[in-house]
Amino acid sequence: MIPGALAPDVEVGALTVMTHPDAHPALVLNADFRPLSYFPLSLWSWQDSIKAVFLDRVNIVSTYERSVRSPTFEMRLPSVVSLKTYVKPSRNPAFTRFNVFLRDRFSCQYCGATDDLTFDHVIPRSRGGLTTWENVLTACACCNLKKGSRLPREAHMVPSYEPFRPTVFDLHAAGRHFPPNYLHESWLDYLYWDAELEP
Ligand SMILES: [Zn+2]
Repeated sequence: MIPGALAPDVEVGALTVMTHPDAHPALVLNADFRPLSYFPLSLWSWQDSIKAVFLDRVNIVSTYERSVRSPTFEMRLPSVVSLKTYVKPSRNPAFTRFNVFLRDRFSCQYCGATDDLTFDHVIPRSRGGLTTWENVLTACACCNLKKGSRLPREAHMVPSYEPFRPTVFDLHAAGRHFPPNYLHESWLDYLYWDAELEP
């Protein structure tokens, strides 16, 4: 696909864009052909994916109809690329606000609301509760305020599950509930969304 005459350090910025490929992101797969990330979905801009092709870091799995060309070559924009070297997912996802929300699927674990989300300490901090995976849940501001500094049984507010430290697989599973608005057909063989896809 890539002419041998091209040096790997070819200046991608010099390429002439034939059309308007702004909206031509490439789905990035690990070397095992699984997406690097489901949510946010691992996507590269077409510029980054072409750069990675020339740096010999990825294989092109699938392409768009559209092409870019320079005076000496033309190539189709990749729609799916796979890394040549397997990136081992970190076993323990970082304890971040985003990942807590993702584990809890961006919904209040007391009432199911999806707006105005905050952190709730199941055992309140004032009662010795720690800020850890095992004691923090996603709660809407309303439930958080209502629960205040009480324990779940005191407040008669039982969370939908006991918080836990997720694995990267748990977070991938949660992320599959959030397909992006745009899905190129060539991506579907590599994605397994729980949500129904529009025909
Ligand atoms: Zn709530």
